[in-house]
Amino acid sequence: MPSVDLNLDAALGVAIPARNARGRIARLGPVLVQVLASHRYPPVIERLLAEALVLTALFGSLLKEADGQITLQAQTENGVVDLLVCDYLSGELRGYIRHDPDRLAEAGPNPSLFALFGKGYLAITFDHPGMKERYQGIVPLEGDSLASAAQSFFAQSEQIPSIVRLAAAKRDDRWFAGGLLFQHLPEGEEGRERLHTRLDHPDWPHVAALAGSVKDEELTDPELALDDLAWRLFHEEAEVRTLAAAPLKRGCRCDPDYVRSVIARFPQEERMEMVGDDGMIRVDCEFCSTSFAIEPADVG
Ligand SMILES: [Zn+2]
Repeated sequence: MPSVDLNLDAALGVAIPARNARGRIARLGPVLVQVLASHRYPPVIERLLAEALVLTALFGSLLKEADGQITLQAQTENGVVDLLVCDYLSGELRGYIRHDPDRLAEAGPNPSLFALFGKGYLAITFDHPGMKERYQGIVPLEGDSLASAAQSFFAQSEQIPSIVRLAAAKRDDRWFAGGLLFQHLPEGEEGRERLHTRLDHPDWPHVAALAGSVKDEELTDPELALDDLAWRLFHEEAEVRTLAAAPLKRGCRCDPDYVRSVIARFPQEERMEMVGDDGMIRVDCEFCSTSFAIEPADVG
């Protein structure tokens, strides 16, 4: 297996066996720049998408199956941000945010999570195609950050003590983002049957304090390798194991054939209404902003 760059566009697994804890640390650089380049969002929205993509990468790297998929979706009833969607499949990330630019401008330069989302929900869907399984957890978008909303996802829907930290920063005009997710493993090693969960396990507050001591600058620093960061946080522990690292890429799965098949499901009359002045049906992929021009005669 080719070695993975542990500074950028990767997620690294970390285990602290004596404390029954495991985690993931991830950082995005060029992948994030590529995703953002197709959207041209204002900085507040770029930061939000950067953090959401790191969170998606952290969740995605928890998957055991190579073809498993994670979809993170934040939806609001009447927020400045209407919809945020990110997904992860086989190390590929993509995402977009639908928002109201005018209301965003009124919210100021550093709006809180509540100012952006108002009353909203965070849904995280785990798809395991091989096992024909799908699991979805939904929590209210509460707290002051996406990280705290993710933490309550684990607390409420999985009842696993967890800590999540996310950060994004612009360095020399380029975005970098990083995050960590650590969890208490109730009965020791990964993969064992979970017999019971003690939310007050004495080892957990210690791990949470060490993981929580991470600084935003450390998460986003492209010079600080992920394994070095793990060591910096947990070096006082008897044993810190680094697990497999996964490279992260930008990817979109939109394709003209799929777009045609979607259009074909509309009745003929409605399809005719979609035809533009140039005689083509134009469909944009929200994830990557690719615009598809479909010949009406090719459909149906
Ligand atoms: Zn696309």
